[in-house]
Amino acid sequence: MPEYDYLIVGSGLFGCVFAHEATRRGMKCLLIDKRNHAGGNVYCDKVEGINVHRYGAHIFHTNDKAVWDFVNSFVDFNRYTNSPVAEYQGKRYNLPFNMNTFYQLWGVKTPQEAKDKLAVEIGLSKVNAPANLEQQALSLVGKDIYEKLIKGYTEKQWGRPASELPAFIIKRLPLRFTYDNNYFNDRYQGIPIGGYNKLTEGLLEGVEVRLNSDYFSDRSKWDNIAEHIVFTGHIDQYYDYRFGHLEYRSLRFEHEVLNMENYQGNAVVNYTEREVPYTRIIEHKHFEFGTQEKTVITREFPDEWTQQKEAYYPINDERNTTIFEKYRALSKQEDKVIFGGRLATYQYYDMHQVIASALKAAKVQFSDNYEITIK
Ligand code: FAD
Ligand code: UDP
Repeated sequence: MPEYDYLIVGSGLFGCVFAHEATRRGMKCLLIDKRNHAGGNVYCDKVEGINVHRYGAHIFHTNDKAVWDFVNSFVDFNRYTNSPVAEYQGKRYNLPFNMNTFYQLWGVKTPQEAKDKLAVEIGLSKVNAPANLEQQALSLVGKDIYEKLIKGYTEKQWGRPASELPAFIIKRLPLRFTYDNNYFNDRYQGIPIGGYNKLTEGLLEGVEVRLNSDYFSDRSKWDNIAEHIVFTGHIDQYYDYRFGHLEYRSLRFEHEVLNMENYQGNAVVNYTEREVPYTRIIEHKHFEFGTQEKTVITREFPDEWTQQKEAYYPINDERNTTIFEKYRALSKQEDKVIFGGRLATYQYYDMHQVIASALKAAKVQFSDNYEITIK
């Protein structure tokens, strides 16, 4: 008899939520992670009393009340609203594209004036059926916004021309005719008070965790340790890359402690010119309305991905999608292994989506009527 009911590979939100759900149903779980800490990419370091988002800034937002209540049962969330500012050639603009942005760009004051100006801008670009990100952006917002606020940022972020990128990436950007700088349209939004580690630690209460443990370092040992496996690592690695490697875009973070109280007055400032090598500067204390004496900022540099680097963004182009579909077909045939999370499903998931999918996976696995409980 294996020692555990479930081996969970990866302590990101998918692994943590599944482990929590299995444990409360009386299952004996072992969760492993190859890193020296749990929590996956939402993990924060404490520097100068400030929670520093080590793997990139994370803002929680969702429309799903059940998911919102679920996370709030482990830690209270604050009222942080993401309102990034964009800098282009020394001038600052509000994001997402809204009446503030249109006023800053063109001096228009009313929604009708903004719509008239946008119609002219879009008309000048004459795109009928947008086939790529550049055409999609031109048909949504026209040339001026595209060139000042989208093109440079997008091309450095993805390391390729916007005309070679899929259109769906840009559909994430809302367009609004109100003076509202909220980046998200979701009903619920915030940051865990005291940081994301409180959320993942709460989820892992009562779960046995082993760090610095790579599933691939001793596969047969891990395969035999439990009745079932939940795998949240790289799906191509799981199948020994037999159909080829899946590609990613990586990031490099430069963290800096500054001897001042407030560096940029906002948590997120995007730099949309191609010539500035980073895409954004994060000032972490503003996520939690911090009043510490010092501040910590992070410059985020997009980076070519190699297997030695962190895999952040899947490249959902035709080549990679075709390869992934082959791995997915194999994974469907497994009866002992559940594949979940962003690496095993090769998807750009937001946190609320990962949480919802882990809750669903548990429900399917245990074929029961357990509702999401509020602890
Ligand atoms: P991960 O958090 O990546 O966890 C996977 C874990 O598995 C890791 O700890 C890894 O070490 C471990 N692992 C992998 N392979 C092995 C192995 N072989 N053996 C042992 N352990 C292994 N979402 C939002 O909702 N809002 C945001 O603002 C937001 N910002 C983001 C910013 C950036 C830069 C990025 C990249 C993502 C952002 N996200 C955001 C998405 C969010 O990070 C994910 O939805 C979430 O972290 C995914 O959780 P996961 O469990 O799937 O994966
Ligand atoms: N984007 C842009 N200008 C900006 C911010 C975003 O052109 O100032 C584009 C860019 O292509 C990016 C996409 O919008 O990849 C999605 O942006 P989001 O802020 O949602 O990206 P994430 O935080 O997930 O990296």
